[in-house]
Amino acid sequence: MKRIQTETEGYFVLSRGDEKIEHVIEESLEECKRTLIKGAEKDLENACYIKSWNVKENVLSFALNSGNLVRSHVGLLRLKKVLAKELGEKLKIGIRRVSAKNFKVILFDRVDEVAVNKIKSMPKIRDVYIEDNKTVILLEDLDENDLRGNLIDRLINLIEEVSKEKHVSYEQIQPIVRISQPKQMKFTGDPLITSVELGWVVPFPGRGQFIYTSKYAALFETIKTILIEEVAKKGGFKPFLLPKLIPFEVMKKMPGYFDSIPEGMFYVCPPPREPEAFDNFKLEYRLKKEVPIEELKKVLKDPAYVLAPAQCEPFWYYYSVIKHKSETLPLKYYDASGYTYRWEGGGVEGLVRVTEFQRIELTYVGLPEQVVNIRDEIVEKGIYVADKILDLEWRITAAAPFYVKEGSSNFDPYNSVEVPAYDIEIYLPYRGPRESSEWLEVAGCFVHKKKFVDSFKIKCEENLEIWTGCTGLGVSRWTAAFLAEKGFKEEDWPAIVREKYREILGE
Ligand SMILES: [Zn+2]
Repeated sequence: MKRIQTETEGYFVLSRGDEKIEHVIEESLEECKRTLIKGAEKDLENACYIKSWNVKENVLSFALNSGNLVRSHVGLLRLKKVLAKELGEKLKIGIRRVSAKNFKVILFDRVDEVAVNKIKSMPKIRDVYIEDNKTVILLEDLDENDLRGNLIDRLINLIEEVSKEKHVSYEQIQPIVRISQPKQMKFTGDPLITSVELGWVVPFPGRGQFIYTSKYAALFETIKTILIEEVAKKGGFKPFLLPKLIPFEVMKKMPGYFDSIPEGMFYVCPPPREPEAFDNFKLEYRLKKEVPIEELKKVLKDPAYVLAPAQCEPFWYYYSVIKHKSETLPLKYYDASGYTYRWEGGGVEGLVRVTEFQRIELTYVGLPEQVVNIRDEIVEKGIYVADKILDLEWRITAAAPFYVKEGSSNFDPYNSVEVPAYDIEIYLPYRGPRESSEWLEVAGCFVHKKKFVDSFKIKCEENLEIWTGCTGLGVSRWTAAFLAEKGFKEEDWPAIVREKYREILGE
């Protein structure tokens, strides 16, 4: 089936004009047609075809259309080869230059507004519009270098990737409690597209997974260091190193996971310890070089772990096995020791909704007033980093997490004790206007009240009421948001970011 089509007008500038050119072309048309379907013999719909052609003095033009197997730019280059030979042998005429105008990539699908914006931000794009339920992407004029390099194939891959993303229509429901001054945007595109273009990020075969190369990693480390310094250390938090493979018995106690979003987690099946259990598996694999899934299912034990989706799971376990006295409270610890996981399925989007990402997870345990104050202090420090250090446009919204959605969503958003979560959100210019587009949540700052204390049985010796809270600073998202507003040119970044980045990246 054809899902994508390309069209173009190709121009060959010849070394001279000659009235016999037309005749030579006519004679070679059959060979031209043959060369355009090479590699697509079994799927002719996706081959390349000549719609029309024409000679005017020393310029020869061909209009081509194609499916996805022999794309129009490849077709043009194949034509060049055939024509150069024919014209050279028969008339001693050479081809001086090849170029393409009105190169169109046509998707047999109507993409949404966010996708249109994203595609517009890609290089070499002149226009994107919808026509008869199709999406038409018009490229700028292309020269032979553009046709030869992998520019067009890379563009088409990116376009297909973006067209698969689901951008749910957005409605602002969380009350906005504070908002920054508008900031100057230095960039308007989707940072994923430019990251791939520049090689800062290389897509990995798993959906929503990437290889982040040195420049991206150095910026990530810069922002992580700033957040640890300004929010965690200055807030009196101490580091921990936590497990990321969470046994069911711990996960069971996390409110709102198995009961509300079991579809959002990765499950892990341990294998049996006896190597002979895998005998058939090994044999079949060696024979077929394909993973024998049915055999694997027979061997593996039942799922017994999840890959940490919240990152704070082991903290609550820890707080439940130590003794608490009022004079030792509040406790403030953070973990920044690696990836956590969420299965986003079809919901993955660019660099901001991915299946594998890093956070700095801060947790706090104390008397109710202590916990609320700590949370509010984190919000202030987070705003400071966004506003004064990274120079990002931010806002704070009041939110109820999924596990308190029913019933308690009526609260005064300005009365912190009542607010389950304050989210720090950053404006993403590529998603559209400030007022009507969805901003990116880069931190969720929670007060759980007694929810986790009850569920994990965290007790204070004097029988005092204690509360907990946690805040995830999504470093992966902070980095993506920074690139979305500031772009990829170091000179557009705040000096402090530039300096740290240089220091981490080295020569
Ligand atoms: Zn948490």
